[in-house]
Amino acid sequence: ERQKHIRNFSIIAHIDHGKSTLADRILEMTDTVSERDMQAQVLDDMPLERERGITIKLNAVELTYHAKNGEDFIFHLIDTPGHVDFTYEVSRSLAACEGALLLVDASQGVQAQTLANTYLALDDDLEIVPIINKVDLPSAQPDMVRQELEDMIGLDGDDALLASAKTGLGVENILEHIVTDIPAPSGDVAAPLKALIFDSVYDAYRGVVLNVRVHDGSVKVGDHIQLMSNGKTFEVTEVGVMSPKAVKRDALMAGDVGYITAAIKTIQDTRVGDTVTSADNPAAEPLKGYRQIQPMVYSGVFPVDNAKFGDLRDALEKLQLNDASLEFEPENSQALGFGFRVGFLGLLHMDVVQERLEREFNLDLIMTAPSVDYHIVKTDGSEETIDNPAAMPDASEIKEIQEPYVKAEIMVPNDYVGPVMELCQRKRGEFVTMDYLDKYRVNIIYHMPLSEIIYDFFDDLKSSTKGYASLDYDVIGYRASDLVKMDILLNGDPVDALSTIVHRDFAYERGRGVVSQLKETIPRQLFDVPIQAALGTKVIARSTVKAYRKDVTARIHTGDPDRRAKLLEKQKRGKKRMKAVGSVDVPQEAFMSLLKVK
Ligand code: GDP
Ligand code: MG
Repeated sequence: ERQKHIRNFSIIAHIDHGKSTLADRILEMTDTVSERDMQAQVLDDMPLERERGITIKLNAVELTYHAKNGEDFIFHLIDTPGHVDFTYEVSRSLAACEGALLLVDASQGVQAQTLANTYLALDDDLEIVPIINKVDLPSAQPDMVRQELEDMIGLDGDDALLASAKTGLGVENILEHIVTDIPAPSGDVAAPLKALIFDSVYDAYRGVVLNVRVHDGSVKVGDHIQLMSNGKTFEVTEVGVMSPKAVKRDALMAGDVGYITAAIKTIQDTRVGDTVTSADNPAAEPLKGYRQIQPMVYSGVFPVDNAKFGDLRDALEKLQLNDASLEFEPENSQALGFGFRVGFLGLLHMDVVQERLEREFNLDLIMTAPSVDYHIVKTDGSEETIDNPAAMPDASEIKEIQEPYVKAEIMVPNDYVGPVMELCQRKRGEFVTMDYLDKYRVNIIYHMPLSEIIYDFFDDLKSSTKGYASLDYDVIGYRASDLVKMDILLNGDPVDALSTIVHRDFAYERGRGVVSQLKETIPRQLFDVPIQAALGTKVIARSTVKAYRKDVTARIHTGDPDRRAKLLEKQKRGKKRMKAVGSVDVPQEAFMSLLKVK
């Protein structure tokens, strides 16, 4: 029957090991994308993905493969991101599949996210097809990688397929192994509909588009569907598959991966991980769904123009449909007005969300420095969790502040053990253990404050190991630390959106750093602007932005008209991201000063 000829699989790997390139080759060799439409990393269709050369979103495509045995197979391929911030996208893709192609770069070997993603696939009982990619590189060491697959993952290294996603070498063989090694789906077509929503996106014309994996039953246009988490019912207006553009179908059946639209206009009704069933013949139990994901960092997001608060809410709700890890609630800042406290999975995620909000929803935003959340034990015995430094209670009410700690695993060649340990120590890390992975590489484990990891740790790690280290981390709990709230005063007034929580030992250094960064970023005004960093009432660092002299502006206004127009244009653009805080104009960069302090 039909399901026997379906294969659902994801491609998983460490970042840059070639997932998107392999997806390209597969689409090409199965004639899914015409030569005319073919471009590198064709599934990375978001402008942001193309510019940065990274995959941010999972992407599902249907294609047809004519196997060597003469039969046709329907493949659903889900390309996934590799960066640690987007692991949630990976875990959701995997729940829609029976198998995973595990790519390992032949010159780099098994890296931190290779392991992390493999464990995710094993958790979901997926069949893993190991592939050693980039064998065309002169530096390729396939035998070493085979050994690593055995030693570090417990797969049979001899089973690994050799391939070059770039040249196409070995890709035909991969396609055959997808047919023979990955199990066909085994849902019950006759049972009531059960489809898992693994992603969704808002479309102005069609309403919410649900991307689903149908586990049991079938769904067609005109059917009445029900969302099992809230009982809401809708009439199906369209079903189809992505190939890679949307292609309408008469029906989706057990084993299929496709989309459903049902004129769903209220965004709050749909939730990734929910089960779609039939309203007329509902299933008794929903599918397992996904675990709720916890944000790692929080930042305040404010519209530059206060009147755009409603637009921002709207944008966040729509983006949340397509980014199930996004969390937000309203926040009110004295300095910045009404906005939202938004939770992110990491700084790259935060960056991506800011850019998507600005581009896809045409907003100008101010974002405050990221912060982790803290557990506060008060002197009166009560406890609270805060994700905003501005909300920190008065020091006299605090008995203890606890911060999130992670277990960090760093894989690195032997030669770099020294620099890595030095760096970890500097970031308040506590050495746990070190294992030799093979003759050349070690896995170093540290317990570290999350707040030290999320900022520039990864960049520092890369630069102190010439790019050879890879990192994975998991939150392991909260620990008490000697932390203090540092306030920043502009013109004598504390600016709540600039408050941060720092370790007492680093407070002076950070204070001086932030103050000097602010001095660089805050433009001269008509008057002197004193900048101070303070712990409570005690000022620990200060500086001043001197008032500009009249003749400086005069010079701008003379000069040739072309140059003047350009300058005005530049000023206008600068203005957009400028926020009046009290009497001082503060640009967006100023709020990120903390991140720039070395
Ligand atoms: P992803 O992050 O796993 O999706 O990786 P990409 O597919 O974006 O590939 C990362 C880089 O590796 C790109 O510059 C690709 O051109 C390159 N690449 C991918 N596969 C191969 C390969 O088989 N051989 C070589 N030499 N380069 C490859
Ligand atoms: Mg990619």
